[in-house]
Amino acid sequence: MQKDLLRLMRDPNLLPSEKQTLLSDIAAQAAAMDMPCYIVGGFVRDLLLNKPVNDLDVIVEGDAIKLGQELVKKYGGKLTTHQKFHTAIWYLPSTFTRSVHPSSLDLITARKETYQHPGALPAIKPSTIDDDLRRRDFTINAMAVRLDGDHFGELLDPLNGQADLEKGIVRVLHPRSFMDDPTRIFRAIRYEGRYSFALESSTLNLINPEALAVITRLSGERIRHELDLIFEEENSSRMILRAGSLGIFERIHPDLPMFDPAYSDYLNMDPILDIPTSRTAMGYMLWLMDLMEAGIMSIAERLDFTSDLRYSVWAVSQLKKSLPFLVNSKPSVWTYALEKLPELSVYVVYLVSREKALLDYLSMWRHVKPHTTGNDLKARGLPSGPRFGEVLSQLRAAWLDGEVSSEDEEGQLLIKLLK
Ligand code: ATP
Repeated sequence: MQKDLLRLMRDPNLLPSEKQTLLSDIAAQAAAMDMPCYIVGGFVRDLLLNKPVNDLDVIVEGDAIKLGQELVKKYGGKLTTHQKFHTAIWYLPSTFTRSVHPSSLDLITARKETYQHPGALPAIKPSTIDDDLRRRDFTINAMAVRLDGDHFGELLDPLNGQADLEKGIVRVLHPRSFMDDPTRIFRAIRYEGRYSFALESSTLNLINPEALAVITRLSGERIRHELDLIFEEENSSRMILRAGSLGIFERIHPDLPMFDPAYSDYLNMDPILDIPTSRTAMGYMLWLMDLMEAGIMSIAERLDFTSDLRYSVWAVSQLKKSLPFLVNSKPSVWTYALEKLPELSVYVVYLVSREKALLDYLSMWRHVKPHTTGNDLKARGLPSGPRFGEVLSQLRAAWLDGEVSSEDEEGQLLIKLLK
């Protein structure tokens, strides 16, 4: 096993060589300080699944801040510290940032956690790696690989995470896990959907009314963060449908509907045009667009939406409801109605309605402008005032509706309008 792990840690397709160097540097420094040092969590899980690893979470039995300070002395970069939690973030020196992403890593002192009441943020105190692994969410995330000295590449797996990885199951570490922290329910759904795993049967049974009730006490920000992470996943549709079927939504907000499976394919679709996109915003738009305005506003409040997100979701629902009144309108009327709305909102309504005018707007009409500018109007002696905007928008409407199709024709129309 150990040999296998070492082989995986030296595989540049899973761990780019710069990250390997970084880990050896940290390992050497920790060994010099006699500090047992581990890499934990998603790194170990993904490595054992033969998947490229992302974040590097380093845990030490000792003072992570001291380790960070020595690393900065030796290799450069910057350190921010949290004395209370004995943790540090090392912003890597430029030798690494060119090739290592993300460009910072967490250095954490092994800790033990206790929950004052269900759903509360935990109280923590420094402890051993064993305790640190036992505070984690699932067995598959509760493994560590030791880095320092001769121990390099040793797997610590006190909760049999590797066996669960092989079986493809997500299992909590103790029966109170979801009660302590119901955000783990969302996390379980993510791992299940991402790796096509199954929730182990007693873990599934622990997503019961008692645990679900604690979701009601979570802050909007914490819940939205979990939902955002789901929408950012490749298999988000599977996950959001699963969350609905487990009865999570009514605990978040009584008006939160099931995600319409008919819309689920659109979750994984990137806009085809040059529209600023966001998978999370698209997720909420598709989810909430059929609600009435009051429902959207109340859910936006509960989930602590930014004002931009609230407006984008509202815009989708309004536009979808007004489509029947806009159908067969002239391009200028469509454009006038659509240009006040976020482009992504228009795109989402296009996806679900296939209304061609919406695509025409996004691909062509929104870019149409007359040749004439405000300066031209000034030069022609038009006194500044609301008439300026009116004339320019009449010229634009003429282009959009095919009433002019050359600069010359626009000039003739301008003369008429200024008479
Ligand atoms: P992902 O690939 O989804 O980012 P990850 O394992 O890197 O997975 P993080 O959210 O970065 O996930 O968390 C790092 C580690 O911290 C996890 O592997 C897990 O061990 C632990 N962890 C994170 N959130 C919780 C939680 N709510 N309860 C217990 N342990 C947690």
